[in-house]
Amino acid sequence: MSPITPPRGTRDLLPDEAPAWRWVHELHAAAAARHGYRYIDTPIFEQTDLFSRGIGGGTDIVEKEMYTFTDRGGRSMTLRPEGTAPVLRAVLGAHLEQLLRPVRVHYAMPMFRYDRPQAGRYRQFAQLGVECIGERDASYDAEVIEVAWRFMADLHIDGVEVQVNSLGDRDDRLRYREALVAYYTPLRDSLCEDCRRRLDINPLRLLDCKRDAQYVAAAPLLGDHLGEASRDYFAAVVTQLESAAIPHVHNQRLVRGLDYYAHTAFEFWHTSLAGAQNALGGGGRYDGLAEELGFSPTPGVGYALGVERLLRIAADQQAAPGPHASAQVVVCTASAAAVSQGQQLARELRNRALVVADVSGRGLDKKLREAGRLGARLALLVGLEEGLILRDLQTREQHVITDDTALDAVSEALLRAAREPAA
Ligand code: AMP
Repeated sequence: MSPITPPRGTRDLLPDEAPAWRWVHELHAAAAARHGYRYIDTPIFEQTDLFSRGIGGGTDIVEKEMYTFTDRGGRSMTLRPEGTAPVLRAVLGAHLEQLLRPVRVHYAMPMFRYDRPQAGRYRQFAQLGVECIGERDASYDAEVIEVAWRFMADLHIDGVEVQVNSLGDRDDRLRYREALVAYYTPLRDSLCEDCRRRLDINPLRLLDCKRDAQYVAAAPLLGDHLGEASRDYFAAVVTQLESAAIPHVHNQRLVRGLDYYAHTAFEFWHTSLAGAQNALGGGGRYDGLAEELGFSPTPGVGYALGVERLLRIAADQQAAPGPHASAQVVVCTASAAAVSQGQQLARELRNRALVVADVSGRGLDKKLREAGRLGARLALLVGLEEGLILRDLQTREQHVITDDTALDAVSEALLRAAREPAA
């Protein structure tokens, strides 16, 4: 029988990678908290309607990428492919926006999409995000961009490009939609199959096509169809980004093809991410989404960043922490008679250090070799004729210590080792 492998497009987080993984999560939580965002979590599966209404028809996610199943009660459920719709459902369902506006929340969640697995693209991946719900003001759009920007600076990720655009309001987009349909209709026969469908159900998505890129390049621009109020709103966002010293590029081709998106759309690009995966994350304002989900109209703005891509770049720039040692000290017993003394010493030492006890029946030589593999600097040998022996596993120096000063002797040796790390 061949051993069972993980599902395609998934990966295990192994202990050596865990410090970097946790570091990214902790820095994001800290950056969001500094701006007043509080942690929120939602179920991993939801009613399918949340996403089919919340993300919308004509999108790749809803049409091709959802993990949808029927539960034992005959209900259609979907593994969460994105965070905004569930977080908005949770906040409005609990009426948080009635107590305080805006509601600021941040999250760290696994997402599931039936994507084609390739470098930087998985079927289960993690996103870090924030949502700022309940107010429509350019300052909030700039605020969420600033949270992401400061967070990436904390990760020491250089070379992030903030791409921003305005999607205007519903009327602007209706005018633009007509212009797009007028432009694409004569080209219909030469479009790819996806684009012919997009032309019928969601023309804004035509701009996402990679195959028909030559048509996208010459397509009319949304910016030319914005009304004055939308232009003013975008100008206010840009002014605030400038005053926060956040460099940004106005990318008129950046469009999210969903009807409930409004005004600001943005992406964080990194030059080291090639081609279709060049975005570390993105976000925007989604003022129409609450109504789409059956709640009263409530504006919101937020972003999501991909953890795997952040980690890849942070690792390239050597900012992420490497593997941690399992233990600083290993207590090794030399005989069966020393087991309970060894375990008691280990228990007491755990108030001061990371301690593993090796009271197994294997030989002392083997125990010392294993202690080195655990990354420990010190071994405390218990049950030898000479008494307790403290051994430095790097310098191989060792000396006898007395029972009643053992704990202090270990603490001092650890401090010394930290001051003078051996080569
Ligand atoms: P989106 O929700 O599609 O705007 O994606 C936001 C970010 O999540 C992307 O920029 C990626 O960093 C990350 N992401 C999206 N899909 C995947 C995937 N299949 N595998 C890994 N990361 C992803």
